[in-house]
Amino acid sequence: MSESVLTIDHLTKQFDNSTVLNDLSLQIHEGEVVVIVGPSGCGKSTLLRCINALENIQSGEIRLHGELVTKRSRNLTGIRQKIGMVFQSYELFPHLNVLDNILLAPTKVQKRTKDEVKKEALALLSRVGLAEKAKSFPRQLSGGQKQRVAIVRALCMHPEILLFDEVTAALDPEMVREVLEVILNLADQGRTMIIVTHEMQFARAVADRIIFLDDGDIKEEGTPDQFFDAPKTDRAKKFLQTFT
Ligand code: ADP
Ligand code: MG
Repeated sequence: MSESVLTIDHLTKQFDNSTVLNDLSLQIHEGEVVVIVGPSGCGKSTLLRCINALENIQSGEIRLHGELVTKRSRNLTGIRQKIGMVFQSYELFPHLNVLDNILLAPTKVQKRTKDEVKKEALALLSRVGLAEKAKSFPRQLSGGQKQRVAIVRALCMHPEILLFDEVTAALDPEMVREVLEVILNLADQGRTMIIVTHEMQFARAVADRIIFLDDGDIKEEGTPDQFFDAPKTDRAKKFLQTFT
């Protein structure tokens, strides 16, 4: 197996007194695409938020290329730059145009030159079919276009891993495909990614490995064929039935 990018070791996360992630361990390898599926409320978003050090954790460890990820890290900004996250809501700055949205963090946080990042941003925008929209404002874009901008913005930080949390859940059906295609392309390029989605066909197409999360822990994992054609647990079978 190739090098481990992300290692999660016995992670436990509680809110108040309720345990949301229970002793969860997981490794993500270089170039691997892992799709996390599971019922609503099972802890998928919380897991991604822990990986991005947006949550305090009760026990266990998360390491990115060996470096400890915690909310209290002195190098928190440095770590967060290595983790690209795209959410269900696009979170673009409404008062900035597309290009300025993308340039903000690479120039302000990473102190890269505007010219360099701009060149990269325009190339990436054109790859996702948005070359013409560089000067548009978020309000002038469709949901699918905004989500593609959000993906380009994450890519321009040169993250070591990309996290996607139900990025098509808020989109009209006709816009879902254009966003999923961008993610499929990233997978083809060998990007390391963790994807949370309810789009099962897409999950099957994009994943190297499927993880079924339930009650705060991994209940089942395997290749897409193993998981979708021959789920082992009753919980996974029941979950999959809701999509047929
Ligand atoms: P999923 O993304 O799989 O739908 P979440 O990770 O959002 O699930 O939530 C898992 C559980 O944690 C749910 O029971 C949810 O209510 C709870 N939860 C999530 N965020 C918070 C929070 N900030 N405070 C308290 N409980 C939370
Ligand atoms: Mg969620």
